Amino acid sequence: MLVTQLACQHRVPAVLLTDGIDFSVYPTNVPLPQETAHDSKHIRQGALHCIGANTVAASALERCENSAQAWQVLMASRARRALGDALVSKISKKCLAVGRNYVEHAKEMGHEVPSVSQEPFFFMKPTTCYLREGRPILLPIGSEPEHEVELGLVIARRCKRVPRDAAFSFIAGYLVCIDVTARRWQREAKAKGLPWTLAKSADSFLPMSRFIRREEVHDPQRLWLWLKVNGQLRQRGCTVDMVHDIASLVHYASRWMTLEEGDIILTGTPAGVGPLLHGDIVEAGIEELVSMKFVCETDTGSPI
Ligand code: MG
Repeated sequence: MLVTQLACQHRVPAVLLTDGIDFSVYPTNVPLPQETAHDSKHIRQGALHCIGANTVAASALERCENSAQAWQVLMASRARRALGDALVSKISKKCLAVGRNYVEHAKEMGHEVPSVSQEPFFFMKPTTCYLREGRPILLPIGSEPEHEVELGLVIARRCKRVPRDAAFSFIAGYLVCIDVTARRWQREAKAKGLPWTLAKSADSFLPMSRFIRREEVHDPQRLWLWLKVNGQLRQRGCTVDMVHDIASLVHYASRWMTLEEGDIILTGTPAGVGPLLHGDIVEAGIEELVSMKFVCETDTGSPI
């Protein structure tokens, strides 16, 4: 999808395309020059740098003398947040999730305690799980769904085999997410030695917050995640307790699989996972940064 289309949808008056040195500003109410619109490489390089602003006039960008200055203007605006949200909602192709990345959670599930000397393991959730505030978490009847609050990483641009020390340059921002899990389905699949894809993949099984720009987070490895059900605190944990840290997760996740713009990496849940029932109000957040609220509804399924 062209960035300009995204920008139009979000009423952004201009986009900035840059290759890191030069930049061009295009108002979104006029078509891009043909060669630019179809130059996917250019678009790809520019994708995270081509954000206009609903609070910054296009003329303010045009007055800038170089891309760094323009970037400063844009950074000061709230547009990157809007584009970050669009990046997840419109562009994201996959969500990779790490299992058992907090020792206390592994213990509560009766698993072997994970260690940094072992490689992390990942599973996937489809984008049809993605859920924004305002819509209910649907609980498949009889599946024993549970909540797992997690920090989500949003990938900034296409990458593969990312070294640990470069990992943060490929992160556009963060989300707080709930990795909803149909525990009964998962347990039954595990007992049969089968994949537990469905247990993680029902519609609405990934409620998520607004996009948090990378610059809003001082230290992503020191964030306190929390989750309440009906006002009662169920989970509270710090990202410092991850077994595999954020940089390592990007490194491992990208080793054999290309990560693309908008893709999400879920970083594991701290202890305290528990059941979700019809009518429950679930709130979750990152202390001092973001919070979100969802209602749970039983999904009885329709006869096939
Ligand atoms: Mg999880």
